[in-house]
Amino acid sequence: MFGFLKTRKRARLLAANPIPDVLWQQVMRAPLFIGLSDDERMALRDHAAWFLAEKTITPVSGLELGDAARVLLAAQAVLPILHLGFDAYDDWHEVIVYPGQFLSRDRYTDHAGLVHEFEQVLAGQARSDGPVLLSWLDVSESPWLDGWNVVIHEFAHKLDMRSGDANGCPPLHKGMDYAGWKRSFSQAFDDLSRRADHDLYSPIDLYAAENPAECFAVFSEYFFETPHALTEHYPAVYEQLKQFYKQDPAARLPRVRYRPCFEPVNFGPVTIPTPAPEY
Ligand SMILES: [Zn+2]
Repeated sequence: MFGFLKTRKRARLLAANPIPDVLWQQVMRAPLFIGLSDDERMALRDHAAWFLAEKTITPVSGLELGDAARVLLAAQAVLPILHLGFDAYDDWHEVIVYPGQFLSRDRYTDHAGLVHEFEQVLAGQARSDGPVLLSWLDVSESPWLDGWNVVIHEFAHKLDMRSGDANGCPPLHKGMDYAGWKRSFSQAFDDLSRRADHDLYSPIDLYAAENPAECFAVFSEYFFETPHALTEHYPAVYEQLKQFYKQDPAARLPRVRYRPCFEPVNFGPVTIPTPAPEY
């Protein structure tokens, strides 16, 4: 679609689907959004309203999501694209939300052509064939500045997939250097792999050492949640992510090394079925 038509369509969507003040103020109390300027909060609100109008959020397995819960999900989802523009998420349409962690059945074909099926319990999954799957309990536990955020993790995978399969290198902006990106992430990945192999302390979740795609997704979580862990231990990666996301969370967030004791925020109404559903 031509750029000006897209812009007009978005303006219509935003005008028709505003996020009410009371919901927005409630969601902005989550620690993840500390330090954003007034202009950034306005832009984030527009992005979140666009996300809610444009994407389909489908609760499943008996889950019901109220408006505040949807806004909380959307606000976290669009934080990474705050300065990238709406088009960064234009290649998929649906978010499927489970009450809690869910069982995923997948298959892959090995080098000999044999098809293998496997199951795993997940808090989130960005599917290469379209939707993003999320556990609501984990979404609601995400915006706490503890370095763990399933929403940012899965949407980082989506950004990565814009260049094909997730491989840890999303399409970079003009002026960014692929060699520099690769060098910074390879050094961090090698360091984390060494720590994992030798059972050593790591300042970053060692899930980042699974493969380059997970490395990018996990580092993106830390970038938005506990950026000082990166500026201190992996400054070259921080610099690459700062250029990629066009944000500087280390300049706006407090230094926290543990889950801080913020007041609990009520994002209800959310109905979670009991007993736990079968997936
Ligand atoms: Zn992942």
